[in-house]
Amino acid sequence: MTNAQVLNTEELQGGFGGEILLPEDPAYEDARKIWNATVDKRPALIARCSTTQDVVRAVNFARDNGILLAVRGGGHNIAGNAMCDDGIVIDLSGMKAANVDPATRRATVEGGATLADMDAATQAHGLATPLGINSTTGVAGLTLGGGFGWLSRKFGMTVDNLESAEVVMADGGLIRASETEYPDLFWALRGGGGNFGVVTRFTFNLHQVGPDLLSGLMVYPISEAKSVLQQYRDFMAAAPDDLTVWSVLRKAPPLPFLPADVHGQAVVVLAILYVGDPDQGTKMVDPLRKFGTLLGEHIGVQPYVNWQKAFDPLLTPGARNYWKSHNFAKLDDGLFDAVIEYIGKLPSPQCEIFFGAIGGATTRKPSDFTAYAHRDARYVMNVHGRWDDPADDKRCIAWARDFFAASAPFASGGVYVNFLTSDETDRVRSAYGANYDRLAQIKRKYDPDNLFHMNQNIAPT
Ligand SMILES: Cc1cc2nc3c(=O)[nH]c(=O)nc-3n(C[C@H](O)[C@H](O)[C@H](O)COP(=O)(O)OP(=O)(O)OC[C@H]3O[C@@H](n4cnc5c(N)ncnc54)[C@H](O)[C@@H]3O)c2cc1C
Repeated sequence: MTNAQVLNTEELQGGFGGEILLPEDPAYEDARKIWNATVDKRPALIARCSTTQDVVRAVNFARDNGILLAVRGGGHNIAGNAMCDDGIVIDLSGMKAANVDPATRRATVEGGATLADMDAATQAHGLATPLGINSTTGVAGLTLGGGFGWLSRKFGMTVDNLESAEVVMADGGLIRASETEYPDLFWALRGGGGNFGVVTRFTFNLHQVGPDLLSGLMVYPISEAKSVLQQYRDFMAAAPDDLTVWSVLRKAPPLPFLPADVHGQAVVVLAILYVGDPDQGTKMVDPLRKFGTLLGEHIGVQPYVNWQKAFDPLLTPGARNYWKSHNFAKLDDGLFDAVIEYIGKLPSPQCEIFFGAIGGATTRKPSDFTAYAHRDARYVMNVHGRWDDPADDKRCIAWARDFFAASAPFASGGVYVNFLTSDETDRVRSAYGANYDRLAQIKRKYDPDNLFHMNQNIAPT
């Protein structure tokens, strides 16, 4: 018997303003799907909240009934903790409002907003804060793990720009956490994941950005990968914070600016954003063209919001995905050899390995400034196994794991909590380093019974 059969859902329904979805409801099947199709969980009940009060009711209901509780923001986390089997899911996808006050340069967004929702609201005023590279990702999960993207070298991690958060706690109480209100909780929320409560509203500090910026791609053959990557490493060591270049190794998608005979061939892609004056950026990126034989490029001035969506077609929901990730303080030649070897045996045309260059402002805070600890990470690598057919699960997962092992000797030891899969609970301590014990104490203070444990869990000490 599932919890759904024993639950008295009427208790939750009274006064609940959102939607309560049970397995027999037509909308249930879609509501239980998340970005990663390898996750196939069947909650007893999905509480699609429309207000903070709905969230309070759902938290109280889960706690009082002793039922497993999961929280869904944008539903993108690879580990699939946004869903659970047999328990209740607090689904925030109906709470997406994003409001900007241009005078104070602040944005307040609800816990179910996507990056696209927030970027659209902030860029209407020529403002932005660092978010990730796929616009359908949830602001909530991304922020709670630390958050980085194209603006991070200039403006830091997403959490470095968080001003305050409104949180529904395990006891059903509503708290506003900031530097001055519940500062210990505020510290923990900035990287500690969903361990401390349900965040219904985030308020961010914003910066003047664009709205038109220089951005785009340059593509080189895999046969020149080692030399391109070596030059890329040296170039980034001297690059200003305004310039971000990520490197991606994969099979070339059928992009219109690439010759047809390059489509499907293994390539090195440099993905570029310049935050400052586009004319300055144009001069700045010119040396990249000489890194090797340029197979094609697509660089120009375009709205920042368009660049924020540029990778969406390669990252659509519904594919099967498995990730492995390391942080790097530096990129060694031996790492490049390993990458090139594994790109030579890609198990599916959608698999890729990328190096996200962060560094810059993300590294200029002490490691205990926020719960996000990795102020030494200059590159975050993700081995992105991606495929469609369940028959390929074993092969693609094995490829990702094997390359992860081959690249481990060159890594810094830390890992980004938001890139951990469900089988990596043993890496949660590595995700927090020396901050782990402080997090466990704060967890004991605010969630001693570990109500919020469908996450990369920090057990209360
Ligand atoms: C295609 C893709 C691209 C990505 N690119 C980047 C990137 O560029 N930079 C980056 O930093 N990360 C990136 N990520 C990782 C991303 O930050 C994490 O997957 C993040 O957890 C997604 O948040 P979500 O709200 O969409 O996920 P969900 O799966 O909904 O949530 C993840 C977890 O966060 C918690 N949670 C969610 N919402 C709340 C809330 N309101 N209150 C409390 N807890 C909550 C829950 O524990 C939940 O299990 C990417 C992910 C994907 C799939």
